[in-house]
Amino acid sequence: MTYQGVLKKMMTENAEQIQYYLDMNSDFLNVNQLLNKEISISFVKYECLNCHLEKPIYRQGFCKSCFFDTPNAGDWIMKPELSTAHLGIEDRDLAYEKSVQLKPHIVYLANSSNVKVGVTRKQQVPTRWIDQGAHEAIEIVEVPNRYLAGITEVALKEYVGDKTNWRKMLKNDIEDENLIAWREKLKKFIPDEAKEYFIENNSETHLNFPVIKYPVKPKSLNLIKTPNYTGKLVGIKGQYLIFEDETVFNVRANEGLVVAITI
Ligand SMILES: [Zn+2]
Repeated sequence: MTYQGVLKKMMTENAEQIQYYLDMNSDFLNVNQLLNKEISISFVKYECLNCHLEKPIYRQGFCKSCFFDTPNAGDWIMKPELSTAHLGIEDRDLAYEKSVQLKPHIVYLANSSNVKVGVTRKQQVPTRWIDQGAHEAIEIVEVPNRYLAGITEVALKEYVGDKTNWRKMLKNDIEDENLIAWREKLKKFIPDEAKEYFIENNSETHLNFPVIKYPVKPKSLNLIKTPNYTGKLVGIKGQYLIFEDETVFNVRANEGLVVAITI
C-alpha cells in the first residue's frame, strides 16, 4: 500500500503512550501502528505549504518567497520577544498577528536532553513538548500575549538552556530533573512586567513516547540526497521517526516535501 502526500509535522495525541498521526492527503496514518514494520519513504517533489507551487523549500515548509512574505513566518515566530501586535504595530499582517500574539502564552521548562526554557501558545500545551521530545515539562508563567512570554524567555535564557540536543534526546541519554525546583530557582529572574503571571502551584507533566529501541548513534536521513529509504520503524520521539538501523528522520524538518510512503 502506498500513500502520497506533502509532509507536515505529525499530529499528536497525549495518551498513555503518545499517538502520532500523519496526514497523507485523503488518508490519515496512525504512525504507531507502523512500529515493527518495514516502511519505505521516497521523495517525489517539493510543494510549498503556502503557495503549493513546486518550488524548493527554504525554511519551515515554505519556499523562499513565501518565507519572506507570509504572515505566519514572521521573525516573531522564532523570536517571540519581537512581537508587536500588543502595541498595534504590524509586521506583515496585523489582523493575523493579533489573532496569534494576543492569546494566552506559556513560558515553560522542558527536559528533552537538558532543561530548557521555551514559549508556546497555551493551546499548544502539551503538543509543543511532544514535538520537542521532552519527557517532562512544566509551565512556569502564563501571560496574556506573546511579547511578555518572549521577554521572559530572553531573561531566563541567561540561566537555563534554550536548545535541545537532538542526538541526546533520540539516544534517550536523559536524566530526570526536578522542574519545580528549577522553577523556584528561576523565579527571581522573571522580568517585572511578567512577575504577576508566575504559576505557583502545578506539577510536572510526563510524556511517554512510543519507542521500542533507541539508537546508539543516530544518523539523520536527508531525503534529498537519499531519495529512497527503506527501514524497520522502531520508535517515534519528538517529530522523529527512528529506524532499526539507527537512521532517524525528522518529519518536521522535511515539511513541504511530497513523499510516497509504502507499507
Ligand atoms: Zn511558496
